[in-house]
Amino acid sequence: MTDKLDFIREDVENLKEQGLFINIRTMGSPADAWMIVDGRRVLNFCTNNYLGLANHPKMKEAAKRAIDEWGVGPAAVRSIAGTQALHLQLERRLAEFKEVEDALYVQSGFCANQAAIPPLVGREDVIFSDRLNHASIIDGCRLSRATIVVYEHCDPADAEAKIKEHLPNYRRGLLVTDGVFSMDGDIAPLDRLYEVAEKYGVITMVDDAHGEGVLGGGRGIVHHFGLHGKFDVEIGTLSKAFGVVGGVIAGRKLIVDYLRQKARPFLFSSAVTPADTAACLAAVDLLEESEELVNRLWENTRYFKAGMKELGFDTGRTETPIVPVMLGEAPLAREFSRRLFEEGVFAMALGFPTVPHGQARIRVMNTAAHSRQDLDIGLAAFEKVGRELGVI
Ligand SMILES: *Cc1c(COP(=O)(O)O)cnc(C)c1O
Repeated sequence: MTDKLDFIREDVENLKEQGLFINIRTMGSPADAWMIVDGRRVLNFCTNNYLGLANHPKMKEAAKRAIDEWGVGPAAVRSIAGTQALHLQLERRLAEFKEVEDALYVQSGFCANQAAIPPLVGREDVIFSDRLNHASIIDGCRLSRATIVVYEHCDPADAEAKIKEHLPNYRRGLLVTDGVFSMDGDIAPLDRLYEVAEKYGVITMVDDAHGEGVLGGGRGIVHHFGLHGKFDVEIGTLSKAFGVVGGVIAGRKLIVDYLRQKARPFLFSSAVTPADTAACLAAVDLLEESEELVNRLWENTRYFKAGMKELGFDTGRTETPIVPVMLGEAPLAREFSRRLFEEGVFAMALGFPTVPHGQARIRVMNTAAHSRQDLDIGLAAFEKVGRELGVI
């Protein structure tokens, strides 16, 4: 007996055979340094909760207050009846924080790319995109129907060669890059990419999802390179360092105002809830008040990386709190992750197609929520499993 959905059964079998089937674990507690994962209390190195804000008392207080004042949902898209004063307040604060003219708050970082790219380029245009750009950038590019030309990872010379070759055949161009690349933790050479793009009059866009709250004293990659006011569009997320949910498109007022007219997630999907919006405002307050959490994040990062190097692990080309522990083949990475979990440490194994063949790894996300003692527990587990599996 065949049925029309057999293709799904076959594909799932294939995924399982190749070791690519994703087993999704269940969290039984808030995102924090220690979490209940599949019923077990473990040290957590998997969430993007860089500053420990996801379960911060001031954030929770702000969200609760907002529910009392504003209810639980706006019940409309932003362009009809969904724009509450809270949304505008957050947009103003984010623009100030990022030192840009204006900002637009959307439902997620993923949505932000879908919202920002298609209004700026279309069928007659060309996008220059880093080889390792995030899936949401790639999807935003595809939605625009522009031609996509991929340049080599973090390679401004190749970006320039590609612009020279292709731009003359199109109406206009857009260059887009991740700020911090989430699999390797390396940083895009934004200053040189900016120079190249400006030289040819190409629109510039950076997605700073892993740089906000982390680089530039928390203000992000544009600040890190001293480029504020120069990049045309900055995409961001409120769901990583900010600890809540939502996306932001920041930059020139001309562009942001235009997106209020054109961006489809803004026009056709309901606004973010008051509780989330208020919590995001509290995150901006905390980031503007002090750099203490950002400094603690970097202290933890330096301590953990130094410990891993001393143990003899290869941590790749990271320059940020993202620490890839390079292991080579996917089955080894999976086994490593499984044994870490047995030791009470939750750290993700990543293999193809998330990373290239032969570059499987465990990825450790450092945060300000971890204590020195937590990091020592983590390092001891890596040492034990690394020795047992002959990695170090
Ligand atoms: C995580 C991430 C996103 C998605 O952000 P969400 O707010 O989770 O939708 C977008 N872009 C990049 C580069 C990311 O790393």
